[in-house]
Amino acid sequence: MRSPSPIDSATFSDSVLAWYDQHGRQSLPWQHPRTPYQVWISEIMLQQTQVSTVIPYFHRFMEKFPDVHALASAAQDEVLHLWTGLGYYARARNLHKCAQTLVEEYAGDFPHTVEEVASLPGIGRSTAGAILAQSRGIRAAILDGNVKRVLARLHAVEGWPGKKPVENRLWELAEHYTPHQRLADYTQAMMDLGATVCTRGTPNCSACPVQNHCQAHANDNPQDYPGRKPKKALPVRTTVMLILRDAQGRVWLEPRPSSGIWGGLWCFPQTEEIDLFDEALAQRALNASDAPQALQGFRHTFSHFHLDITPLEIPVQVIGTRDSNGRWVDPAAPGELGLAAPVKKLLGRLDTPRQTSML
Ligand code: SF4
Repeated sequence: MRSPSPIDSATFSDSVLAWYDQHGRQSLPWQHPRTPYQVWISEIMLQQTQVSTVIPYFHRFMEKFPDVHALASAAQDEVLHLWTGLGYYARARNLHKCAQTLVEEYAGDFPHTVEEVASLPGIGRSTAGAILAQSRGIRAAILDGNVKRVLARLHAVEGWPGKKPVENRLWELAEHYTPHQRLADYTQAMMDLGATVCTRGTPNCSACPVQNHCQAHANDNPQDYPGRKPKKALPVRTTVMLILRDAQGRVWLEPRPSSGIWGGLWCFPQTEEIDLFDEALAQRALNASDAPQALQGFRHTFSHFHLDITPLEIPVQVIGTRDSNGRWVDPAAPGELGLAAPVKKLLGRLDTPRQTSML
């Protein structure tokens, strides 16, 4: 194993900052101005999502909710609607809850310590550090996926960062290298370095400001870091989504309970088995006016299981008064509703030629 030359923390941060001044991203919408609110919204949107995808969502969000008070007083549906397509909806629900906490307990402002910010809904230690460093210049380390990759390679840290000892070692390094000045730029620089140079696939080591000090580069094996999560086969669950259509072609959607998968999003009624659709119709004071048709099924994968979905389209008529908070929706214009991803996909399919089988 070759040994690269060691680097002290000041030289490391100076090198990264000099690289940032030339190559970093300095015109992102949340950098102008870098308020805690703007940085917070961008950080939550950027979790698991790339910058180019986030930018239009960020603009729409700021237009509708320009400050924490506007967000706190919004209906959850409005927030989820603006999130439709970004996925991981718990982020949007927590964002809304967090805005309410900030208004109720902190007069609409962010607290000033990592501990306090990290105790807010949906905010972990790294996001808290990113908010405080970028918007207030407070010395706080971050350790998002990009920074983990850079530091794991730089020091050839073995193991999957989901394991506590590996994560602790990476935090130690993150704290060690965090400088005392230019915190906002350094934080952005580390994220940019990971996203644009020290990339997951093939890192561009020749453009890296710390190449001469990188253990993984010296050993020619950056792709081995960080260690991968041990693979586990995901269980498969099944569901039948009932696409109930009235005489005008509208479909029936209902809000999901606020916790659990697709919490608070609008969805088709579901049953475990196709044969149970009659029962589901009766509960909603509906009757099938024609034979149900099974549409082409598909798989939706969550982090912890696969869901095999069978869509069942049923023309219906109303036969009484129902006790339900759903609504009839035009599939081509569902309005400002937060929609579960498979529902969005199925609505898009309803006007296209179907591959169906009669039951
Ligand atoms: S030298 Fe290569 S592997 Fe090492 S930190 Fe830089 S880009 Fe990543």
